[in-house]
Amino acid sequence: MHEHYAVFGHPIGHSLSPHIHSLFAQQTGQTSMNYTAQDVNADQFKLAADAFFSAGGKGLNCTVPLKQLAFDVCDQASERAQPCGAVNTLAMRSDGVLFGDNTDGIGLIRDLTQNLGVALKDAKILLLGAGGASRGILGPLLEQQPSELTIANRTIDKGIELASAFARNGPVTACSFSDLSDKIFDLIINATTASLGNEIPPLPNGILTDGGYAYDLAYAAEATAFVRWGLQQGATVSADGLGMLVEQAAEAFLIWRDIRPESGPVIERLEKRRKNSATSSVKNA
Ligand code: NDP
Repeated sequence: MHEHYAVFGHPIGHSLSPHIHSLFAQQTGQTSMNYTAQDVNADQFKLAADAFFSAGGKGLNCTVPLKQLAFDVCDQASERAQPCGAVNTLAMRSDGVLFGDNTDGIGLIRDLTQNLGVALKDAKILLLGAGGASRGILGPLLEQQPSELTIANRTIDKGIELASAFARNGPVTACSFSDLSDKIFDLIINATTASLGNEIPPLPNGILTDGGYAYDLAYAAEATAFVRWGLQQGATVSADGLGMLVEQAAEAFLIWRDIRPESGPVIERLEKRRKNSATSSVKNA
C-alpha cells in the first residue's frame, strides 16, 4: 500500500518538490511512498489538510502562502519552528499527533556551509527582507555565531520588529536599504521576493567584501537578477536557492521516513536539467 505525501501551496504548478522527493525515494529504496503537488490557497487550507490526513496522508510540505496556517493547525511544533510561527513540514505521527517543523533554516545552513563552503562563524552577514523566509532562517543563521547580522528591509518597521524578536539569539540589527552605503559584508542573502519580478532591492555598490558570497533564496531557470548582481560585485560564489530547496526537502524526508537521503546527487541532477533546458531554450529561440 502507498503512503501518501504532498506539497500544498498556491501557485504550485512549477514546484520541484515532487521530483525531488521521488529522487530521494528511489535513492533510499522507499518505494512505498508517493508525493504529489496540490494547488491549495489560504482559504482552502484547513479543509484540504483535514481531508488529506483523514484519508491516511502521512506528511505535507506547505509553501507560500500557507506556512503560518500550517503552524496554526499542528498539534506540536518543533523547538526550531516556534520562533518562526511558521512550518513547512507536517508529519502525522503514529500516536495521532500532527507534528510541525520548519526545515528552511537548516536547509539554507547546509547549502551554505556544506555545499558552497561558506564560513558563517565570525562573518558579517546582510539579510535582505523581513518576511516569512527571513523569520525562518534568522535563528539558524545566528546559531552559527556570525560577528554581526544586519537586516535591511523596505518597510523598516518590519525589519526592526524582526531584529528585536531575535535579539536574544545574537548580534542582530535592522536598517533601511539607504543606510547600507558605508557598510561591508562577507555574505549577502536575498530573502526578498524582488527576484520574482526580476528586480533587486536598491543596493549600493561596494558593500560586498572581496571574495564574499551572495545567495538568493529564490531560484529560477536562469540566473536571478540578484545572482547576476552578486557576480557583478565580484562574489566568489553567487548562488540561488535551488540547493536550499533540496536540503530543506532532505530534512523533511528524514522527519517522515527516518532516513536521510543524499542531497548532493539530487542537486547535481537538477542543475544539469536546468543547464540542458537553458541550452535548449537558446537553441529553440
Ligand atoms: P514574504 O512575502 O513573506 O516577504 C517578502 C519580503 O520581500 C518582504 O521583506 C518585502 O518587503 C520584500 N520585498 C518584496 N518586494 C520587494 C522589492 N521590490 N524590493 C525590496 N523588497 C521587496 O516572502 P517570503 O519571505 O516567504 O519569501 C521570500 C523569498 O524566499 C521568495 O522568493 C521565496 O520563493 C524564497 N524562499 C525560498 C526557499 C528555498 O527553499 N529556496 C524557501 C523559502 C522561501 P516589505 O516588508 O517592505 O514588504
